[in-house]
Amino acid sequence: MKINRILLLLALVLSGVFGVAADDGDGDFKIVATTTQAFDLATILTDGADGFAITGLMGAGVDPHLYQPTESDVQAMNEADMLIYSGLNLEGQFDTVFEALREQGTLIYALSRPVKSAGFIIGAFEPEAEVMGADDPHFWFDPRNWEITTLDLAETLAEIDEAQAEIILENAAAYVEQLRLLYDWADEGMRSVPGNQRYLVTSHDAFQYFGAAFGWRMAAIQGISTEEEAGVGDIQDTVRFVLNNDIPVLFVESSVPPNVVNAALEAVTSAGAAARLGVRELYSDAMGEPDTFGGTYIGMIAENVYIVLQSYQCAGVDVVIPEWPEDLLPAPDESILEVEC
Ligand SMILES: [Zn+2]
Repeated sequence: MKINRILLLLALVLSGVFGVAADDGDGDFKIVATTTQAFDLATILTDGADGFAITGLMGAGVDPHLYQPTESDVQAMNEADMLIYSGLNLEGQFDTVFEALREQGTLIYALSRPVKSAGFIIGAFEPEAEVMGADDPHFWFDPRNWEITTLDLAETLAEIDEAQAEIILENAAAYVEQLRLLYDWADEGMRSVPGNQRYLVTSHDAFQYFGAAFGWRMAAIQGISTEEEAGVGDIQDTVRFVLNNDIPVLFVESSVPPNVVNAALEAVTSAGAAARLGVRELYSDAMGEPDTFGGTYIGMIAENVYIVLQSYQCAGVDVVIPEWPEDLLPAPDESILEVEC
């Protein structure tokens, strides 16, 4: 491992990755981003800077735990100067490719690394062992973590292309301001739900950070990865939890099939409790379609906040949905603000 790292460093120094953009003919510094979030951030930071070509691998609604790189993905990664991925084993099927890229000296950047260094990665609770186990990979769901990532990636890109460092760092500073507006808006709304009712019940545990950011607790049927399917026992545990805590809403996620949550809801309602599904599907590990509100990081987080608050409102809970900050972009459209219970 240590030798590999030294070789990689040597390869990076020799190939001139530090200081100048690598040039392989067309002059572009090729970045490949695995998830929609990674693509979004790299695009925002290099806005207005010349010579960056960014390719995203996963599309809207794709589950990164299960996503297998295609042949064209592998080719794109092979030709890339830099690979940006989320890390903490989110891209569970990419290990072999990452290893090969490392060996050939591609610059590999994990968005989770600066958050881990800062000490903000949460362990996943493993109920069977009653211990905190592996790192929970869904760190981006706390906008304050995404701020750390934004600044660190910006610094890395600024080192790669010193001539355009100013543009990149200015982009980062402007985006951090947006992320702070987003956090304050979301925090005000999420904390308007009474403390004893702040439970987010979902199929897989993507929302620990989202919950921790805004003072909510989580209950997920499948645990942190979608790689293992939920068993009957997992569903029964969740049903008991929902009944014991009078939880009024269960949420389906956009990148996970709804059947597990539907089964849990059916059991809850047949036990006589008045629970319902969320008004729309939550974004978990992938953003929405490009050119939609949920197709940006800011829109994805905000839409989840809207969905949670609207769903609780529909279930008869008193909530305050704060007014959207004027300077925060993109602004939500009518289809997000108007909801039929
Ligand atoms: Zn996940």
